[in-house]
Amino acid sequence: MPANKFTDNFAANIFTDDVMRERLPKAVYQQLQKTMQESSPLDIGSADVIAKAMMEWALEHGVTHYTHWFQPLTGITAEKHDSFIARSAHQHAICEFSGKSLIKGEPDASSFPSGGLRATFEARGYTAWDCTSPVFIKEDAAGPTLCIPTAFCSYTGVALDKKTPLLRSMQAINHQAMRVLRLMGNTTSNRVIPNCGAEQEYFLVDKKMYDKRMDLVFTGRTLFGSRPPKGQEMDDHYFGVLKERVAVFMRDLDNQLWKMGVYSKTKHNEVAPAQHELAPLYDDVNVATDHNQIIMETMRKLAKRHGFECLLHEKPFAGINGSGKHDNWSLETDDGINLLDPGKTPHKNLTFLLFTSAIIKAIDDDAALVRSSASNAGNDHRLGNNEAPPAIISIYMGDDITKIFEHIANGGDNEEPNICSLKVGVKTLPQFAMDTADRNRTSPFAFTGNKFEFRMVPSSASVAGPNTVLNTIVAESLSCIADRLEKATDVKAEIISIIKDIYNQHKRIIFNGNGYADEWKKEAEKRGLPNITNSVDAFKAYVTDRAKTIFAKHNVYSEAELNARFEIKLEKYVKVLNIEASTMLKMSKREILPACMKYAGTLANTVNELKNTGCNLDISAQTAVLEKLNTLINKLYTQTESLEKAIDKMHAMQAQGDLCKTAQYCRDSLSANMNELRAYADELELIVDRDAWPFPTYEDLLFGIN
Ligand code: ADP
Ligand code: MG
Repeated sequence: MPANKFTDNFAANIFTDDVMRERLPKAVYQQLQKTMQESSPLDIGSADVIAKAMMEWALEHGVTHYTHWFQPLTGITAEKHDSFIARSAHQHAICEFSGKSLIKGEPDASSFPSGGLRATFEARGYTAWDCTSPVFIKEDAAGPTLCIPTAFCSYTGVALDKKTPLLRSMQAINHQAMRVLRLMGNTTSNRVIPNCGAEQEYFLVDKKMYDKRMDLVFTGRTLFGSRPPKGQEMDDHYFGVLKERVAVFMRDLDNQLWKMGVYSKTKHNEVAPAQHELAPLYDDVNVATDHNQIIMETMRKLAKRHGFECLLHEKPFAGINGSGKHDNWSLETDDGINLLDPGKTPHKNLTFLLFTSAIIKAIDDDAALVRSSASNAGNDHRLGNNEAPPAIISIYMGDDITKIFEHIANGGDNEEPNICSLKVGVKTLPQFAMDTADRNRTSPFAFTGNKFEFRMVPSSASVAGPNTVLNTIVAESLSCIADRLEKATDVKAEIISIIKDIYNQHKRIIFNGNGYADEWKKEAEKRGLPNITNSVDAFKAYVTDRAKTIFAKHNVYSEAELNARFEIKLEKYVKVLNIEASTMLKMSKREILPACMKYAGTLANTVNELKNTGCNLDISAQTAVLEKLNTLINKLYTQTESLEKAIDKMHAMQAQGDLCKTAQYCRDSLSANMNELRAYADELELIVDRDAWPFPTYEDLLFGIN
């Protein structure tokens, strides 16, 4: 055994179970375990003891401040730092941390978006310790800080954050899945936990170049830029050798993440130049959501230290792949059964077949909600193009599993041998090797061996929203199944009959073909599957009667909470487009137009000088370029004026208060104006002297890292 393994430092910055066991009196430790597993309340006496132990541990790590770390509806995390300092009698300072301060905080966080919830219910929000996600120490140049994961609610219990509904949805799916398991005769499991492994895609660009691009600084994506002569067509970046500078960044990132208890596992170059991916090992959806936030935050922070900027935007560059976040989702019992594991004989595995059926039904019944949970302004540039899943929700099940469902749906039972004749052909390969390796990368929701992979999720978004939706709609589907099983006399026969009914009713959602093909769009339309092409339309799924009914039934979102989220999503969409359009305007007026005009002047001087040489020179090339340049400058100027008017119109609409109409205007008119402006500028970039262009180009940004 080597003296120092890299894993020795793993979770060094986590208040782990081992640390708690070591430092807490046994009775307190046991009570905390009970709170974590059964959500039973923690008495204040125990909280005091835990807080003291936590503070002592933190002080040993050089910590001076703690923060209630929470996830408001902005989609990122928030923190307010308090030091442990307290006054002692003789003008001395001591360190103090009470149970009350641990379990409850009152940030005056009234400026976070609340979608009207606070005006209606309560002005202040409070944070409450979520003891199911580990407390960690975050290190940066300013020193270490103790971070306590918390939920953020109003006094009346209205969820003002993303964590609270996620935790509620975990309870809902646990409850319904346990009902089904008990009815199926399972007596050993006590809990069902939804798991998530979130693969994070990102771009790295050189910080010096980034700083010169107003669009990257303000919007996270390029709003101008002509395509480089080489993009991703050679596939030479995908899984390619890591550039040393990037590799050093990734190593640093791994080390930091491991210290904070994140099981960072896989790293590689992605399809587009300058694009990369990090995947951690999966965890329960709550911890996985917190960890994904930590991953994104740490990536951004460390990138700067290494002279990079990390872009988490869904589409930083036109013409090459954008970034997504694959949300690998599964259901597991507390005694280690993966309910989505087909095993060696999937056709005999009723648990697998029934739970998979529940998911098929859920995704078909609530496709619009699933689509909605993965929508933001950035993802509109990605979904439906030939790089990311189409905007149509469908499920890839693979031929083998589909065959089993077909067989049962056609009246066969599940006992027949060989209905699943696997095509592997190599005895030494695991049973499902082919299925997993040969899987379809074009599907938005793919069965990948023992989990589903939801591939639509935006790279910059929290996975809380998508997982809250998945947990809830599957809970709803399982509750319908449990209702049927409760009434059955022959449970096994009823299970087969449920699988059959679900497959027959919902098989339209299963599609194993190429999701990028145009034929699929036509086929999906024939099948009656919704094709929601943009986020403004997608958001509406949160406020349908159906959504209100199921979220209320499973105590995940109240109607007011749903309305608030709808409003915040629309508001954010409008803000994003406003910032993008205003940035374009400024870049065009203050950078592109002046640079082009100056260059036109230079060219005009050249033309004059050539004319005045007295030689009879052919200056047709120079005049042709000058004329073309001048025409484009005029077009760019006129279009800049149009964009300015469009922005004014948007502001006027905003002032009238019709958010929906404003968002639609942004989606249709404002973006059309932006696209046209970009087209002229990109054309100009191709004829203006490289040295005269006012900011780094796509070539510089994408291929500039050595
Ligand atoms: P790929 O890029 O081929 O999709 P990766 O290995 O990069 O695969 O990522 C797969 C992700 O799925 C990892 O985060 C992994 O931990 C996660 N995962 C594996 N098994 C499960 C499971 N049962 N439930 C949820 N996530 C899982
Ligand atoms: Mg994946």
